Order: sequence, then C-alpha cells, then structure tokens
Amino acid sequence: MIGTLFESHDITTMKQKTPKLPDQFTLQETHIDVKSSSGNVYIVTKSSCTCIGYSFHRECRHYKQARELGLIEQLEKQREKKLSITVSEHARVLRKEAIRQFLKKKQVIFTESVIDKIEKVMTSTTKPEDVLRMVVENE
Ligand SMILES: [Zn+2]
Repeated sequence: MIGTLFESHDITTMKQKTPKLPDQFTLQETHIDVKSSSGNVYIVTKSSCTCIGYSFHRECRHYKQARELGLIEQLEKQREKKLSITVSEHARVLRKEAIRQFLKKKQVIFTESVIDKIEKVMTSTTKPEDVLRMVVENE
C-alpha cells in the first residue's frame, strides 16, 4: 500500500517537471540575475553575461532577452542616476567645507547644523555677508 503511494507521487512529480519554464529575470542595482530554465543562474550586466555562450559570441539568449525586456536600458538608467547622486553629494561636501573655512577666517563661532542649513539655501548669488547673517539668524 505504501509502495503504491510513493509510486503515484513519483509519477506526479515527473509530470510537473516536463513543461519548460521560461528564464526568469530579476533586476538588481548593478546587474540582472537570470534563473535559466535549465536551473542554472547567470548574471547579466550592460555588456556581459556569465554563461559560456556569451564569452564565445558576445551575445546569448539571456542577454538578448534582457535587452528585449528593456532591462539593459533600466541598468543604464540606474547607473546614471547613481552617478548624479554621487556628484551632487560631493559638491555638497565641498560647499560645506568652503562655508566652514569662510566662517573660521571671519572668526565666527558656528555649529555643524548651521553649516547644513546654510548649505541648503546657498545659491550662486549668495554673498559673504548673507552667510554671516544666516549664521546669526540660525543661532
Ligand atoms: Zn548568457
């Protein structure tokens, strides 16, 4: 009786395995994870795939599908977005340092939170006296 149960279970499992699943794509921050229908996992970037096919032909099923799904384009966009955030973050650090140096020179006592506030409202037309006024106002 138990033997029969196991047998029927095995048949069911085999039948479920037969239909081929499509490759599954998961977009990550810097790459795309590809779970192939064969069970292998590959990593696609904007100019590569970790499968053997790609290294031979510079093109493969995974890369082609990722491009057709618009995922390669998505990767590019994510990269550009990340770069612009990094640049503006760097500019912010430089501006803050310039404000600190300026206030030190003027022998003005300041706190870091004041520097933060000034940096946020500072524009290209902000004059040195405006900065000094802001320090007083924010104290
Ligand atoms: Zn591939």
